[in-house]
Amino acid sequence: MFNIEKVTDYFYKIKTNTVDIEIYANKTILKKIGEDDTLKQALDITKLPGIKKVLLMSDAHQGYGFPIGSVAAFDYEEGIISPGGVGYDINCGVRAISLNVDVEEVQKNAERILYGLYAQIPKGAVSDKAIYYLNEKKLRQVTFEGAEFAIKNGFGEKLDLQAIEDNGRIEINNDCLTNDAVERGKTELGSLGSGNHFLEIDKVEEIFDKKIASAFGIYQNYPILLLHTGSRGLGHQIAIDYLRLFKENANQKKLSFPNKELTSLPFSDKLAKDYFEAANQAANYAFANRQILGFKALQIIFEILKKPINYTLIYDIVHNIAKIEQHNINGKNQKLIIHRKGATRAFYAKHSALKNSRYFEIGHPILIPGTMGSNSYILVANESDQTLNSICHGAGRVLGRRQAIKTLKNQDLIAQLKQKGILLLGDSKKGLLEEAPLAYKDIDEVIDITIKANIAKKVAKLKPILVIKG
Ligand code: 5GP
Ligand code: MN
Ligand code: MN
Repeated sequence: MFNIEKVTDYFYKIKTNTVDIEIYANKTILKKIGEDDTLKQALDITKLPGIKKVLLMSDAHQGYGFPIGSVAAFDYEEGIISPGGVGYDINCGVRAISLNVDVEEVQKNAERILYGLYAQIPKGAVSDKAIYYLNEKKLRQVTFEGAEFAIKNGFGEKLDLQAIEDNGRIEINNDCLTNDAVERGKTELGSLGSGNHFLEIDKVEEIFDKKIASAFGIYQNYPILLLHTGSRGLGHQIAIDYLRLFKENANQKKLSFPNKELTSLPFSDKLAKDYFEAANQAANYAFANRQILGFKALQIIFEILKKPINYTLIYDIVHNIAKIEQHNINGKNQKLIIHRKGATRAFYAKHSALKNSRYFEIGHPILIPGTMGSNSYILVANESDQTLNSICHGAGRVLGRRQAIKTLKNQDLIAQLKQKGILLLGDSKKGLLEEAPLAYKDIDEVIDITIKANIAKKVAKLKPILVIKG
């Protein structure tokens, strides 16, 4: 059905009536991408107004409307914004923290740390467990201040802000939260959530670039805390409420879409701008959430180790968000609305977007988790404008959740991981099966494509010591 043109062993294209679909994959991954609706979804995106670029990264798979592992850029004047292009977990992201302590100490106490974190970190699908409860005024304040709110309230240090995408705070001009989002946000700040979200301690297995690694605060055998979560119920509710409002508005205007999941509005519309503001408020909530959770985890770990808290925030990076950015496409500098959905930002050294970051001179750390049982990677971007400063965000699924449970139901993941020296804990067997290593693509292969396609280079490889799933 699709006429896929091979450009290199790691890069393919599909011509459409508007822009090419650009795919970072090798033969194996391309075959996997072809097995679900990813390509059809990408084709539908090319039909939306003002489309300027569509990218599928090597972790791409089918999602709601837009594939996960996709980047879509639209013209600022004539283009659209689409809640389905951001996803339900607005500012889902990853935070990596170097624990400045001997890895042996962590390994010796691994079980106590595992149970300590498990008991004290709020997690799961419940909506009434948090580290920091908020009244309405404070909740709104969090959505304006992001990570700064957390730091002002004792969770971390001011210096941390230089190691967070956008310094942990996106400028908000109007309060566009919906009432239900406000309610959900009050009782979930400082919580992990469920399913794919995790908190783990890894060990640095291999360093590929010593100079950059040490600038990132990463050394051989160092223990690293890795945290994956987002904007919880607040972000989810913003996505639900604005999708409904977008659909009503689009119906009134008699707009039609390649499919309903791609409901979108011209960015020039007021409602589109309101969604953008509300999504950014959710993004700030997520920055505060990771700041609080990360710091709470440090308190728990160092208390068990009977040592003062000693850490370096390596980076905090976003993988579900829409942003207004300036990029060069076909030699022309353009203002764009960029949707990164299951895709990570990747700014190389001296990029102006990093001017307030600790990493202006070398490019920021790119955090790419693998699975509970495999490697995760830290990369740095090469100077290039081929991917709109974007990169994959993980291994990406190969099995849907239900499919994973069905296929893997007889496996004892906790025992399997234990054999590999990894401690695992989660609320339910089903929840763990959905997230089994076999439910994901091979992270080493996904990264290999990224490197060979010249998007980034490897800095460090991590291996899990202990994993807590939400
Ligand atoms: P998503 O945000 O799309 O749910 O997932 C991001 C990525 O995290 C997935 O593509 C997968 O590669 C990775 N991942 C999922 N579970 C775990 C885990 O328990 N540990 C690590 N290190 N990575 C995981
Ligand atoms: Mn995520
Ligand atoms: Mn998420």
